[in-house]
Amino acid sequence: MARTETDRCPGVLAVHQAADGGLARVRVPGGRLTAQQLEVLRVAAAEVGDGRLELTSRGNVQIRALREDGPRELSDRLFGAGLLPSIAHERVRNILASPLSGLDEESRYDVLPVAIALDQGLCARPGLAELPGRFLFALDDGRGDLADVQADVAVLALDDRSAVLSLGSRGVRVGWAEVPDLMLTAAEAFLDVRDQEWRIAEVAGGEEQLLQRLGLKASEALEMKPTRVTAGLHGTALVVTVPLGSLTQDQAAALVETADEIRVTPWRSVVVPATATGLEDAGLVTTPDSVWEGVTACAGRPGCAKALADVRADASRLMPTFPRDGRRVHWAGCERRCGKPADGFVDVVAVGDGYWVDGVRV
Ligand code: SF4
Repeated sequence: MARTETDRCPGVLAVHQAADGGLARVRVPGGRLTAQQLEVLRVAAAEVGDGRLELTSRGNVQIRALREDGPRELSDRLFGAGLLPSIAHERVRNILASPLSGLDEESRYDVLPVAIALDQGLCARPGLAELPGRFLFALDDGRGDLADVQADVAVLALDDRSAVLSLGSRGVRVGWAEVPDLMLTAAEAFLDVRDQEWRIAEVAGGEEQLLQRLGLKASEALEMKPTRVTAGLHGTALVVTVPLGSLTQDQAAALVETADEIRVTPWRSVVVPATATGLEDAGLVTTPDSVWEGVTACAGRPGCAKALADVRADASRLMPTFPRDGRRVHWAGCERRCGKPADGFVDVVAVGDGYWVDGVRV
């Protein structure tokens, strides 16, 4: 059956036309950016966008309010920086890896090299350019920090020899050497069996069908408790919260100055070496007790035409006195609640002349 719905996930060339102009999403497999790449993004945001770098819930980076020739100019710059290795695959390089992998004692295995191998393998298989832009790969280093990202093809480290490959609720024990190939073959099998579905979970019996095609049988129950990684020191790394996930020019410059490499997390924060300095002066957060810990917001006004409020401005003004109970807080400009956490959060939704907070009008 022919597909009727168009895949509208934005990329660098296929930008989303938002109320404030073009929005480009730059895929960052494994969240890894060198200082040079971050500097290219920072300068590009200043020269072709609104100056800010938005961090997404999949560890990618967005630039908003692009000028008319922005997509072409941006793609040239990203290609030169090694951030656009395949035009055909640019929107499908959705690969999350535990951001603290290999950097602290909680990490059972360093999955970042596996993420890089997976990305290279993905770009080398022409057919996988047809994956939906929502399709997600995840590599969890065993701590459970990616347990709730709802990946299509996930791997959870058991130790330095083996991992559990999962396409849903149960998994199969596999050796690390076969992980990239199995993950990519599972994605190819999904393309074979899908009709109009965007995700494996949407295909009836998808998990069983794909495992059968891979010649595997699910044997391991997956009951990993999701863990949260907060700002502060973790082994040899420092997790830095970016308020509302929006890096200013000064903040991006401070990161470039202090770290040879950063890792973008799916929680609107970045990982830098523990020795990094001067970040608080730029308005970044390096301790877990900040009012910005676990606070997210959708685009709101002026970026989204559906928004009933400038939620980012309101959150900036109100969060310092906002009552907290340990849960995350998500601010949304309308009931679609874009970018909300999986569950367990304070739900703040604009209604035009105020907000609903967990269903109570304020
Ligand atoms: S939640 Fe509503 S206002 Fe916010 S980005 Fe989504 S559609 Fe726009």
